[in-house]
Amino acid sequence: GSTVGIIGGGQLGRMSAVAASKLGFHVHVLSTEASSPATEVAASVTVGAYDDPAALEDFASRCDVVTFEFENISAEGLGLLERHRPVRPAGEILRISQDRIAEKTRLSEIGVRLAPWRAVNGPEDLVELEMLGFPLILKTTRFGYDGKGQFRIPDVEALEALTDLPYPLVAEKMIDFERELSVMVVRGLDGTVRCFDTVENRHRNGILDVTLAPARIMPDLARQAQDMAASIAEALGLVGIMGVELFHAADGSLMVNEIAPRPHNSGHWTMDACLVDQFEMHVRAVTGLPLPSARRHSDAVMHNLIGPKDMARVPAILATDGASIHLYGKVEARPGRKMGHVNTIFPRGALPGELALEGLLPPRC
Ligand code: ATP
Ligand code: MG
Ligand code: MG
Repeated sequence: GSTVGIIGGGQLGRMSAVAASKLGFHVHVLSTEASSPATEVAASVTVGAYDDPAALEDFASRCDVVTFEFENISAEGLGLLERHRPVRPAGEILRISQDRIAEKTRLSEIGVRLAPWRAVNGPEDLVELEMLGFPLILKTTRFGYDGKGQFRIPDVEALEALTDLPYPLVAEKMIDFERELSVMVVRGLDGTVRCFDTVENRHRNGILDVTLAPARIMPDLARQAQDMAASIAEALGLVGIMGVELFHAADGSLMVNEIAPRPHNSGHWTMDACLVDQFEMHVRAVTGLPLPSARRHSDAVMHNLIGPKDMARVPAILATDGASIHLYGKVEARPGRKMGHVNTIFPRGALPGELALEGLLPPRC
């Protein structure tokens, strides 16, 4: 059989590894930790740093194709991997998703709408931000996730009071959004593009909390979000899966927030509501297998289990009918850490109303 190589030891690597193994592949993982969510389910492991040439070379020599859940592989590391084996998704996509300025620049060229933004390379650029209007948000260009590295600026006084910022930054106008949406789009080696249904996401403390599939929006708007995701995938020559986060603004328009060229937390609902989920689609794409329909057979609500408070609910969730629980095997439940998720599914068209949603799971302790 052939070997799928996955870079990264987290839950996305774990669930990708399970999907690859379901398709009969041998799974080899590169992780900085011998024991991690992904290494626990891999058939074999290289333990080493993601920027260590010796570790990357050892890893690549054991794989037929390389993919990743960890996006911040250095340009040199990527070059090394690409000299040995096909890396999918490849090249430009990873480079732009690592850097918010490169990402926004490229997305603007592609022609999708974004929240108004400016690059802020140093304190001298701060004065220009008044033109964007307030409130605005500053984000570090690299390594940000779960809302880390973000600064919300309500007014010009707050802007003027800022000192010692971690430049370079991106400034964005805060969008008064109706809701946050996302689309998982996958593109195969032969150019086939499939989109899962457009979903609706709610965040708590900057971290994804709940995904509703499908989004409760007009079909035209859902289609428009999928078209935007597909056009980005095509323009970037994506091979693999990508999450596209969008704002449905109060004025009815759609704006892209960011892209993630890998399986994505807002696609976890597919594990129980689609015959072929996001992880299997990703593995199929990077190994050159056919991409079947991304049809959703059920409606779904996905709840993230975050930190020790949510882990305390696990015994009650295990005893709840209709709740499909996925745990990542993380030993330590630090606050804010993603420990698992729960999918609750319903017949199509039977997604519960706002109030009933809260009662789906046992309450947080
Ligand atoms: P992720 O874990 O999704 O990678 P991240 O740290 O890259 O998160 P963003 O997705 O850019 O951060 O922002 C996190 C959340 O902050 C968004 O989902 C949204 O709720 C809010 N947010 C970010 N940018 C804006 C904006 N311009 N206007 C309004 N809300 C925003
Ligand atoms: Mg992000
Ligand atoms: Mg995001």
